[in-house]
Amino acid sequence: MTQELIDTMPALRLGRPLVVAIDGPSGSGKSSVSKEVARRLNLAYLDTGAMYRALTWFCLDRGTDLNDASAVELAAEDMPLDISTTPHEEYVRVDGTDVTAAIREPAISSAVSTVATTLGARTELIRRQRALIEKHHRRMVVEGRDITTVVVPGAEVRMLLTASEEARLRRRGIQLGGTQSAEQLAAQVTQRDAKDSTVVNFTQAADGVVTLDSSDLDFEETVTAALRIVTKVINHE
Ligand code: C5P
Repeated sequence: MTQELIDTMPALRLGRPLVVAIDGPSGSGKSSVSKEVARRLNLAYLDTGAMYRALTWFCLDRGTDLNDASAVELAAEDMPLDISTTPHEEYVRVDGTDVTAAIREPAISSAVSTVATTLGARTELIRRQRALIEKHHRRMVVEGRDITTVVVPGAEVRMLLTASEEARLRRRGIQLGGTQSAEQLAAQVTQRDAKDSTVVNFTQAADGVVTLDSSDLDFEETVTAALRIVTKVINHE
């Protein structure tokens, strides 16, 4: 089914830019769906949340006070970051240390919003994200919170992947291995989204951004729906 869809795309705009920008809250299924869309369309892939997580790890590792905005901004500029840009492998290295697993730890999840709401640090990470997109000749699926609105507002395809709060909490529970209590999970996800929302709006689609609600869709159905949006937008250019 999805292969049929892909076959109808005009040679996937080969040799031409195709940035697929996907924003959404935590637990919307954004990362796994974005990665699969990149795989099927043979595009590069960037998880910008992993960059904010890496910066949080870097600050904690070198004892930077997360509430000191200029120190966090400096850390963003200093951080030697190496992040995968393909959907086929996942790695994040900071100054040679593999932090791929460490940045998913609860200690990072609960501190990341403080770093991500530091505007100077955002400016630096956005600069790096744009450089990575250029390096891949603007053929990339980029996912995060402000991709459709700030990082690449001119992306060929822009979508907001949403899901009901209930569906999102359920998915986080599965992702975190079900080791945490329902209250802890709810607090973690809701508080993080609330804090993140103070600097970026990822709950409502901006003009020209297509909303994909995955609440009642399974993984495969969500990927198919996302690919349909890509086809539709490309065919209507
Ligand atoms: O996507 P993920 O949940 O891994 O993102 C971790 C955090 O990184 C978010 O909670 C948010 O604070 C921050 N973030 C952001 N802008 C992005 C991507 C992530 O502020 N484009």
